[in-house]
Amino acid sequence: MRVAGPVQHTAYRSEWGLLIRPLLGMRDWRYDFKKGECIMFHEDRCTVCGDCLSWCPYIEIDEEDARKEFKKIIDGDPSRVISECVSCMGCDEICPEKANPFSLIIKRQEAQGEFKRFEKAKQNMELAYSMPSEIRTGSEDGPVIDLCTVWPMTPHLFEGVLFEGATFLKGGRYFCGIGFYHIGMESPVEEHAAAVVEEVARCGAREIVCFHDDCYTFFKVKAPEFGVEVPFRVVSWPEFLYRRMKELEERIRPLDVSVAYQRPCASRYTPEKDAFVDDLFELIGARKPSRSFEGVRALCCGGSLVPRDYEMSNRIKHQNLKDAADAGARIMVTLCPMCFLNLRKRAPEHNLLLTTISDLCRAALGEIAIG
Ligand code: SF4
Ligand code: SF4
Repeated sequence: MRVAGPVQHTAYRSEWGLLIRPLLGMRDWRYDFKKGECIMFHEDRCTVCGDCLSWCPYIEIDEEDARKEFKKIIDGDPSRVISECVSCMGCDEICPEKANPFSLIIKRQEAQGEFKRFEKAKQNMELAYSMPSEIRTGSEDGPVIDLCTVWPMTPHLFEGVLFEGATFLKGGRYFCGIGFYHIGMESPVEEHAAAVVEEVARCGAREIVCFHDDCYTFFKVKAPEFGVEVPFRVVSWPEFLYRRMKELEERIRPLDVSVAYQRPCASRYTPEKDAFVDDLFELIGARKPSRSFEGVRALCCGGSLVPRDYEMSNRIKHQNLKDAADAGARIMVTLCPMCFLNLRKRAPEHNLLLTTISDLCRAALGEIAIG
């Protein structure tokens, strides 16, 4: 059995932070969900205020129309929102009543067959479940890291002291499928949920580290919502990196640099990991500049917008990178490998260096140079 190292003090501080959030009136509802709690729209909570749609960065709509359109969606009437929604998941985090508007929108999208517009992406994701799978075994006491099917996008990332002794789970048997949400489909994720959890559990680890934020969201939130018990502790990538860097603290050379953070869509469902990002930044001497598109207001990397609206994708990438550069960032760091690939080419136009959060750690350890 492989067990990752002990959680450090600051990590516990973050967990305590989660516990007191409800007392402070902060949203912590993802942590007390029951089966189906978050995957369902709570019509009884919805005041039809329209905030979810009028806030949306991807749909042009005024407040009055937002209220009208959302009422249509509730009633099952045709609404332009169903085809214009880019499935960023953001309105579920924004809704002041915790009514889960996106949970309703995606059901309407799937019922309306919106995914038929993205046949190629759908086929690719269906094929992902049958990608060759393997376990690359590390040392007995090393962490077990789920690389899902995304690791070939950034295969160079898993080198160096951070990953010494790690066991890697790779391939289609571990595919979480959260990408289906971006084409307006939820049912494949639910259909495969029990099999994916069972496959990962088969390795016998008490803790599973998720490289991809989508996988973390799948195990932490979606699988339990579908009624699938997850018999291991799930560790987010920022928590894993923070823990490893604490173990290696004596080797850290503070970076003393301004770094913008690209928050991925899946973090809408698992915002607790943001505390580990902040702790990690502090540990390695990275300063987060004050940005417009930070935290709950984070913009999509543009990847899920490409097949829907190429122009919009470019515009959002530009807004996002410009905002980071204007705020004084020299580097933009991504958690998700998709965000890295989508923003990589455009970042230099804004004099930004794009890198991943693990490579930022490796730079702080003196293993690689960035910038
Ligand atoms: S889902 Fe939330 S934000 Fe949207 S109309 Fe209902 S209460 Fe308002
Ligand atoms: S999921 Fe995103 S794109 Fe869709 S309505 Fe909500 S905020 Fe807008």
